[in-house]
Amino acid sequence: MSPKAPESAHRRAKFLGNRRGQRIMNTIQVTESEAQDYMFGLGHVGFCLACGERADGCEPDASNYRCEYCGKHEVYGFEELLVMGKVEIFEEDLG
Ligand SMILES: [Zn+2]
Repeated sequence: MSPKAPESAHRRAKFLGNRRGQRIMNTIQVTESEAQDYMFGLGHVGFCLACGERADGCEPDASNYRCEYCGKHEVYGFEELLVMGKVEIFEEDLG
């Protein structure tokens, strides 16, 4: 019954994870139904990679559009974001 120190190993893994995380650019996280809506819906939407705000009426292949919220030219069309691998689609937790 010697006291082990799993905490330190844990902490190191976490630290590495954090460091790796910093290199990942922002991603847009949407649910499956949202993604389908953005891909097949009538209105095109885009997202700002700088602040994550949604931009309605954005062409699917838009890139570097100006964000109405933060003013940065980081708005991309949803399809463009998919191509760039900037969209994380997660399953909805409906219980
Ligand atoms: Zn923005």
